[in-house]
Amino acid sequence: MNPRDLPAALPGAAASSFPALAQTVHGQRLVYLDGAASTLTPRCVIEAIAHYQSFDHANVHRGVHALAERATTRFEDAREAVRAFVHASATREIIFTRGATEALNLAAIGLGAGLRPGDEVIVTALEHHANLVPWQMACARSGARLRFIPVRDDGLLAVEAFEALLGPRSRVLALTQVSNVLGTVVDLAALLARARAAGLVTVVDGAQAVAHAEVDVQALGCDFYAFSAHKMYGPTGIGVLYGRESVLERIPPLFGGGDMIETVTLESATYAPLPARLEAGTPNISGAVGLHAAIAFLESFDRARLLQAEHQLLAAMERGLSALPGVRVLAAGTPKQGALSFVVDGVHAHDVGTVLDRRGIAVRVGHHCAMPVMRRFGVPATVRASLSVHNTLEDVQALLDGVRETCERLR
Ligand code: PMP
Repeated sequence: MNPRDLPAALPGAAASSFPALAQTVHGQRLVYLDGAASTLTPRCVIEAIAHYQSFDHANVHRGVHALAERATTRFEDAREAVRAFVHASATREIIFTRGATEALNLAAIGLGAGLRPGDEVIVTALEHHANLVPWQMACARSGARLRFIPVRDDGLLAVEAFEALLGPRSRVLALTQVSNVLGTVVDLAALLARARAAGLVTVVDGAQAVAHAEVDVQALGCDFYAFSAHKMYGPTGIGVLYGRESVLERIPPLFGGGDMIETVTLESATYAPLPARLEAGTPNISGAVGLHAAIAFLESFDRARLLQAEHQLLAAMERGLSALPGVRVLAAGTPKQGALSFVVDGVHAHDVGTVLDRRGIAVRVGHHCAMPVMRRFGVPATVRASLSVHNTLEDVQALLDGVRETCERLR
């Protein structure tokens, strides 16, 4: 590889923070390029969860004993850390969910309750199924119509098409920040500003963005923002729905039960204020503690430098793959964040993934829960390589060598 391809600051310095990277896979050094599916867990997150579970665990919001108070403090401290992480104005606006999928469903069911026949929900043709199917369901229930902003060949959205879609019945715009297939970045600022001016409620799927660029929901001006902890070095089973308070207030509770009520009679109930109103039942307390530790881990880096280094590493990966005969990177040449997808002529993505696995290289193959994107680009499946803070140029080189071997063996 040409030295001019070298990133200014390799984020790989963090590799020693990840116990999983100390192992070999099929006798090879583990090269983990699948953070977009789920990031490896750093030691500090594992230890925070183990400590909480060992010494602080009790149920939250209910007890008066020492452990219950400690658990409640840790849980609510995590909420405050999330608030600061996304720059929300109040912790009331942070709803813990099981993940991005549940967060997006909560938004779609909540907003769907206010949709009438003939209303319109606008999504993009770039969405993960988690930000598409809930809107299909909300439209089916309400009689609203789903409309789509198309994707261009370069993997960006046809923004002018959004203008043409906007009409008097447009109610919601739901869109991703970063494509989980192509890695391309949506120009949110322009779209959100236009949607806001037209009176739409806006929902952003930040699942592929939070581990890479800093998020400021107030600067973005979105009404909802959803993400999962496990794609940003936290545990599975916990995620977040940020909601602007005035919009969140209009959402009916999805679940009834403990913690979300104020008073209950046999016949009826009144609901607790936000955020409890939307968090029925015992929450994922250790998950919140883990997410808090993951935020601290991410913020221990110079985020701007990290982003720049990741860009350079990804650009080096794209250049190297594009130079291999028979390899095609989707949305080639378009700036990407954290991930890219490619196909090898005449070789199924699963076979590429299997050869890479034998070399200890973990990538994701398949349709990536975004079948409409596959159809748009005319491929049944792709290989997706994605970057985490521990990746280095050596990892990129290992991928390039592995793909070259795949081409030689299978084409
Ligand atoms: N949106 C995007 C863009 C994603 O990449 C994913 C995960 N692949 C999701 C939503 C859903 O996240 P989760 O499965 O953690 O709920």
